[in-house]
Amino acid sequence: MEPRRNATGGIGVLDLQGGVQEHLDHLQRAGVAGRPVRDVAEFAGLAGLIIPGGESTCLSRLLRIFGLDRGLIAAHREGMKLWGTCAGAILLAAENVGETPHLGLIDIAVHRNAFGSQLDSFHCTVQVPAVSAMPLPLTFIRAPKITRVGPGVRVLLAMDGYVAAAETDDILVTVFHPELTPTLAFHRYFARKCGLNLPEGDVAPPVDASWDRRSWMDARRYGEPQPRDGS
Ligand code: GLN
Repeated sequence: MEPRRNATGGIGVLDLQGGVQEHLDHLQRAGVAGRPVRDVAEFAGLAGLIIPGGESTCLSRLLRIFGLDRGLIAAHREGMKLWGTCAGAILLAAENVGETPHLGLIDIAVHRNAFGSQLDSFHCTVQVPAVSAMPLPLTFIRAPKITRVGPGVRVLLAMDGYVAAAETDDILVTVFHPELTPTLAFHRYFARKCGLNLPEGDVAPPVDASWDRRSWMDARRYGEPQPRDGS
């Protein structure tokens, strides 16, 4: 699928529940225009949309209640690329082991909570050659495992008996959370996939040393109404 025509709106982050500010903070650090999306009309002009991690049952209900599911699928058909992180990847999967799938837009099977409880969350540092020449820090929080990828899906990261990152030409799925690490490499990778030009190309370091785990709390509140002149 070609990058979306007239996509001047940068990359949106679905703003219903989950790690929204963290993704917006990473987009800003990567030099990519980002904005929160809460309404169908806000899909207009987006080159890509990030569906953040959070809780997939909650997210899917909110998507349905606000009628965003149909709008999202329609915008995707018009060329809006998608990146699902963790719960976002669960929403995008065509098959959800033991459960009903949600959006069903990428031919993968996911197994929710396959590592166990929240206490079985973990960090690791792994090479993902398609995304960066340097090893990247990854954070898995009550993550799913991708247990099957269909014929049209490329594996970006295979771990111990499961897939942790995969893509088609128009959808990226990661079961981990780059937005909760200092790495900007995945946000840059997705921006390039969306056809956006990054001024520093591939030469920017994949890790932002100024990031820490509370950075997103200090970031400006993206998309909050700005005071009007004279008010
Ligand atoms: N366990 C969550 C779910 O099944 C996903 C967790 C996450 O997004 N970090 O929806």
